[in-house]
Amino acid sequence: MHIEVRGLNKQFGDFHAVRDVSFDIERGKLIGLLGPSGGGKTSILRMLAGLETPSSGDIMFHGKRVNELPPQERGIGFVFQNYALFKHMTVYDNVAFGLKVKKQPKDKIRERVMALIELTGLKGFEHRYPHQLSGGQRQRVAFARALAPEPQLLLLDEPFAAIDAKIRGELRSWLKELIERVGITSIFVTHDQDEAIEVADEIMIINKGRLEQKGSPWDIYKHPQTQFVASFIGESTIVEQVDQLKGFEEAAAWPGTQALIRPEYIEIGRRHEFRIPSATAQGTVRHLHFRGSEWMVEVEVDGIKLITYRSLEKEVLQPGQDIFVLIHRAYLFNDNDNWIMENRLKEDPMPIHI
Ligand code: ATP
Repeated sequence: MHIEVRGLNKQFGDFHAVRDVSFDIERGKLIGLLGPSGGGKTSILRMLAGLETPSSGDIMFHGKRVNELPPQERGIGFVFQNYALFKHMTVYDNVAFGLKVKKQPKDKIRERVMALIELTGLKGFEHRYPHQLSGGQRQRVAFARALAPEPQLLLLDEPFAAIDAKIRGELRSWLKELIERVGITSIFVTHDQDEAIEVADEIMIINKGRLEQKGSPWDIYKHPQTQFVASFIGESTIVEQVDQLKGFEEAAAWPGTQALIRPEYIEIGRRHEFRIPSATAQGTVRHLHFRGSEWMVEVEVDGIKLITYRSLEKEVLQPGQDIFVLIHRAYLFNDNDNWIMENRLKEDPMPIHI
């Protein structure tokens, strides 16, 4: 289903929960609505579903305005974080529920339910009740049940929130594959950026009721359009006096400009390890945090604290140790603008003779 949303607003009394949100979603895409708590993600999802009425704006499915269409006529499947399965029904009956409501013939229902049970890896569990299943299995039943009536749009509200970390990871990849196979347009709400980056074809970042940016995870990561997006996606350090950093002196031309520096923009090592040593600054290792697959290193350069990562394969550093630091680039922003600035010393001005 192709979705178009134009100028969507939602007010609860005086409170403006969704502000002038517009977007298009292409058929078959998996979209992540990502943002901090209270930003308006669920309100947008509920308006798409018809569970909440927009204060203004238009919602169009396949080019037709659906603002007045009741939820059951919108062709939508739902998955909530708390499974919302019928406790007194078996897996089979849970999945069959929507089809029975539609009064479909019994053999057709059986065929569809068994196909979905197979698709969601629940074969052999048809006769169990929800309390006899793990959290991950219950959520699979919820997916199968939502897909049974062949919806054209699948809405998922924090579908993995109630599941423990390891199973959540497995379930995410499983869901992505399942949605690709079924080819259904899907929108899921999450406040977990890793989840959105891993699962979604496109992410919509929602903050304070506004759509801050929409794009592929890679695009949003590489080209954040607002300061909020830059600081929300990925880890980073905010630096007030960016013009004090080596290679970024020209930032002094824009007073009041701050920088956001991601860990992967920074390289640390011994001086001879750098291709252009003159572009490096001298720093001191302050703290080391072991993160399982790498070190997170806090380094200080001219009183400015920066965070970067270091491979476990490299020489182990010690707090207090002197180290050379190369900042490849910084994301700069002020009240009016934001842009990416490369370290101007990084490119060797002299040709290298071998
Ligand atoms: P979370 O990640 O915490 O679920 P969210 O981004 O989904 O947050 P919403 O649930 O859409 O945010 O809520 C947006 C804002 O609207 C919140 O400040 C919330 O308190 C408010 N809100 C939501 N529903 C109502 C309501 N029925 N009446 C009044 N205010 C509401």
